[in-house]
Amino acid sequence: MAFTTETTGESSTEERADDPLGPGMAIAATLRGTLGPNGLDKMVIDRSGSVVVTNTGATVLDGLEIDAPIGRVIRDAIQAHARHVGDGTTTTALLVGELLDAADELAERGLHPTSIVDGYARAMSHARDALDELSVPVDPNDERLREVASTAVTGRWDEASARRFADITVDALRAVDFDAPRLTIHAYPGGELADSERVNGILVNLDGSSTTIDGFGTDDRRALADPTVALVDGELTPSTTEASGTVTVRSPDELAAVREHERAASDGLVRSVADRGVDVLACQKSIDDAVKTELARAGVLPIERTRRDEFDAIARATDATAVTAVDDLDREALGTVERVRRRSVGGGAVIELSGLPGESHESLLLRGGTPHVAEETKRIVEDCLAVARHAASGGGVVPGGGAGMTAVSRAVADRAPGVDDRSALALEAFADAVTVIPRTLARNAGADPIDALVALRNRHRDGETTAGVARSGAVRDMFDAGVVEPVAVPARCLEAAVRTAGLVLRVDETLDAKPIEGTGVDGDGHRGRDHAAADGRPRETEDEGGGGHDGGYPWALSH
Ligand code: ADP
Ligand code: MG
Repeated sequence: MAFTTETTGESSTEERADDPLGPGMAIAATLRGTLGPNGLDKMVIDRSGSVVVTNTGATVLDGLEIDAPIGRVIRDAIQAHARHVGDGTTTTALLVGELLDAADELAERGLHPTSIVDGYARAMSHARDALDELSVPVDPNDERLREVASTAVTGRWDEASARRFADITVDALRAVDFDAPRLTIHAYPGGELADSERVNGILVNLDGSSTTIDGFGTDDRRALADPTVALVDGELTPSTTEASGTVTVRSPDELAAVREHERAASDGLVRSVADRGVDVLACQKSIDDAVKTELARAGVLPIERTRRDEFDAIARATDATAVTAVDDLDREALGTVERVRRRSVGGGAVIELSGLPGESHESLLLRGGTPHVAEETKRIVEDCLAVARHAASGGGVVPGGGAGMTAVSRAVADRAPGVDDRSALALEAFADAVTVIPRTLARNAGADPIDALVALRNRHRDGETTAGVARSGAVRDMFDAGVVEPVAVPARCLEAAVRTAGLVLRVDETLDAKPIEGTGVDGDGHRGRDHAAADGRPRETEDEGGGGHDGGYPWALSH
């Protein structure tokens, strides 16, 4: 078999060489059980021993320690894709696994990797056409957008939560006209998922600043009505107004004088802020401790180390102009909002600015029992936002539940006989490979994958191209079931999978075709078992250079 390479390194060569599973298939096999609404959770234990329970493909992938270089290439490619689209990590991983597996078989039948890569590329263009044909447009106010968002998060939470989060994200997106920078996500550990909420306003994290002297104490009921807001883009220290140099102190009197001078400078700074009627002062960098205390005492709420994006959002929302020195705070530079209040969240606190006169802003305040759950919640909500934005940005939507892949499979299989070279075989293989999605959805629902596939094909052949595998495992109309995805998701999953498979196939082709000096790879793609080079030094680069389908699972889950 052209792709077989013997495992090198310390592990038992004989045992692993027998196992035909390449890294692509192994990753797919690991993620398979998490696909779809019936996906089960994986428990991932990282090196430090912390445990994450998740059924998000991206999180599982992050946690895998993959040894085989090709496995890492595959993982990186899938992750890059997931960051781009926001959904479909598991789908992409399964497709990569199937495409590589199919390529292995084709190679065994004598097809050159280049022909396989060509065939896959050709199949991809038919796939794109099939998805375009299946796709229906949605506009930003379409109710289907909620279904898109809830489809992206089904399986992560119970159905009621999925629907609620879909509503929250779609409403928030609409409120900011789908303008991503105007929507910020804050995730806090502590509290329940159900305590998560959508806030029409800006939340500023107080983690970086002292909460006891923030002007509110820890009283959540106090709020400022129509406060004047000032923004300082820099640090706030007494030396901001006074030129500072090195002071050498020779006596206690002199030290007292220096202290007095500093106090005077600090007082002057605080007075000039208070005199301008400022109620809330947000600083992009730190505020000197003494100044902060004095500001709070003078009735000014100091917020320091405001995150850059929040700082800019406050400027746009309050119509304030950021200045670099307090002296520049003139009437023009000041802004306002209807209400500012402090809120305790979990162990920390946030400042909430609402009733924004300028640009509207939405914040999602997410809660989860532990830091991991909070982070995972954030990740899921980000997926929700990404798909809703994709769907609303004019791309259109397709039925989910494997309906898209079934349509792709049909279209590609139909075109295969028209291809008169050997890559026709690759088109047929591609048509089979993509059915891994409906098959896996059926299997995870406890249904028979082959029965489901046959039923699906029949329905699609009869013109019912919206038929897919429902949560129950039965084949039904996906639009009726509210299972909808932006066409960009299946399209980009396929593209990423084809690209990744191509990458891997080409790597194997180069290395297996010619002997590479110093790697011990001979012309047939077999590496010598002798691990030491002629000069007696171990060949450290063997694994990097070979990079091929090392047998067995390419990682270890450590504990
Ligand atoms: P991925 O990481 O690829 O997004 P998911 O576990 O999110 O993996 O599963 C996505 C697949 O599940 C998609 O094919 C989608 O159409 C399908 N799916 C989601 N919700 C449903 C549902 N309620 N019924 C059937 N299929 C669904
Ligand atoms: Mg998903």
